[in-house]
Amino acid sequence: MKILLIEDDLELGNGVRIALEDQGLQVTWVRRLGDALHAIDTQACDLVLLDLGLPDGDGLALLARLRRERLPMPVLILTARDALEDRLAGLDSGADDYLVKPFALAELLSRVRALARRSFGLVNDTIEIRQLALHEATMRVTVDERAVELSRSEFELLCLLMKRADRVLTRRVLEEQVLPGGLDNESNVLDVHMSNLRRKIGPGYIRTVRGVGYVIDRAAPAKGGA
Ligand code: CA
Repeated sequence: MKILLIEDDLELGNGVRIALEDQGLQVTWVRRLGDALHAIDTQACDLVLLDLGLPDGDGLALLARLRRERLPMPVLILTARDALEDRLAGLDSGADDYLVKPFALAELLSRVRALARRSFGLVNDTIEIRQLALHEATMRVTVDERAVELSRSEFELLCLLMKRADRVLTRRVLEEQVLPGGLDNESNVLDVHMSNLRRKIGPGYIRTVRGVGYVIDRAAPAKGGA
């Protein structure tokens, strides 16, 4: 499970990161609102830990953006005790839970586990779309319960598409998954990966949106379409 941790306090952020990683969770830690918004656009994260007071803005702006775009990952707000109004506003704008600073790491971990259990698609860490199932922790992918061998890049692409099912992912975002740092406009690396992925998982899952990118639809394509 991938967690996006947004916390500008060095000591607290580092402590939380270590505690989560000790539990086998993958953590991306950012300290600025701008970096958090970028991470939301470019990475597949399952749960967000959100500090409200950030050096370049209010953490609630990120929460509002997630809800506006109907991104499903749960959000746990980390806030100071005296910021009661912030807490209430946070819950109004769709946070799933909050934790008052200072908090015990054990308490944080138990909240994270509870949110992960509640969250859609995270039961047993398996994401299922029709006959296609992806188990992130073991990197196992099955179609009709038949195992499919994927390369690391193919797996990362599929994982992101499945987590963002029904949303079109742009070529730029997908390219960052397979070649961090980007690549030149003429590269067809992404097309090659997508073509291999389609061949391996079968038709009807990955749909090309011409000139934009790719999407996996939860619903099966209409007869005659692909
Ligand atoms: Ca802060």
